[in-house]
Amino acid sequence: MEPPKIWRERREKYLALGILCHECKKKSFPITQYCPYCSSENIVELKLAQTGKILHFTRVSQTAEEMMFYAPYIIGLVELDDGIKVTGQITDNKLEKLSEGTKVRMVFRVLSKNGEEGLIGYGFKFVPI
Ligand SMILES: [Zn+2]
Repeated sequence: MEPPKIWRERREKYLALGILCHECKKKSFPITQYCPYCSSENIVELKLAQTGKILHFTRVSQTAEEMMFYAPYIIGLVELDDGIKVTGQITDNKLEKLSEGTKVRMVFRVLSKNGEEGLIGYGFKFVPI
């Protein structure tokens, strides 16, 4: 396997991880060293569910400079099928076609581009199923 593919897969795996706390049994995102609910260190990594539904969404027209090339875009609060709630860009769709409850799946895409240094930031977004 060539190095770029290894790095791409590592990055995707890392970005899609949350934690499961063995003390209070709650799941959370992003990955941390302590449970955000009870501060326990008795936690394990948890791969996030790859599908969920939109709870709320809105159109963003003003944002950080490195993300302006996407604007306007749609951002949503998504409840994943494992119960974890995350925010993310809803892509490959138009605002008028979305509704609360629309089913989505997680995809990895470019999130930001820094024009001067050419740095590209990756992360997850959601596309309607
Ligand atoms: Zn806990």
